[in-house]
Amino acid sequence: MSYNIAIDGPAGAGKSTIAKIVAKEKGFIYVDTGAMYRAIAYHLLQNHVDVEDVERICEEAQKADVSIRYIDGEQVVLLNGENVNAYLRQEEVGNMASASSVHAKVREKMTELQRKLAAEQDVVMDGRDIGTVVLPNADLKIFLTASVEERAKRRFDELKAKGENPDLSAIEKDIAERDHRDMTREVAPLKQAEDAVLVDTTSMTIQEVADKIMSYIK
Ligand code: C5P
Repeated sequence: MSYNIAIDGPAGAGKSTIAKIVAKEKGFIYVDTGAMYRAIAYHLLQNHVDVEDVERICEEAQKADVSIRYIDGEQVVLLNGENVNAYLRQEEVGNMASASSVHAKVREKMTELQRKLAAEQDVVMDGRDIGTVVLPNADLKIFLTASVEERAKRRFDELKAKGENPDLSAIEKDIAERDHRDMTREVAPLKQAEDAVLVDTTSMTIQEVADKIMSYIK
């Protein structure tokens, strides 16, 4: 039986940073489920699908062939056979992912792929519905969060470091909107699983968070 760790939480809570550290220390595979939703979103944008056109979103999502490979320990997302990692972190793709991932047809497809990965190997999987829907029997569930202000500041610093000129209040607004959409959608909303451990990272360092999570692994 594989060992599965589920990490859920809102955008910017530090899920991927922490999940990568824990996966490396334990020799597990890191599965970034947000990147899968982003790959679908990228496909929708490439095909000029309107964000309001539910029928076409569901139709195109079925056509998109998303799969995962690991190259030197890094997750590579293939969309119709092509490595699309370089395009997935754009804001436009994130916003489309947030909007298109509300649909059951999109989620069913991604959930199936995620369960298959977790059944085959030891994983640290991060997302919004991993502990509640995708892996309800995960060995360890973590709900990682931080205040909206802190999450916006982290994103701001990240963009600044890349040489961009970000607008802090616009980032805050975007994060709050994304939280609202993720938490209030009908299918698989973002919420803490009953048996998940809550970790508020607002005033914690990355290493403190990683150490805390490592201490829960049996
Ligand atoms: O985590 P990340 O920002 O890459 O996710 C992009 C979007 O995909 C999120 O805003 C969320 O709406 C959606 N998502 C989801 N379920 C997951 C992972 C991501 O709905 N398990």
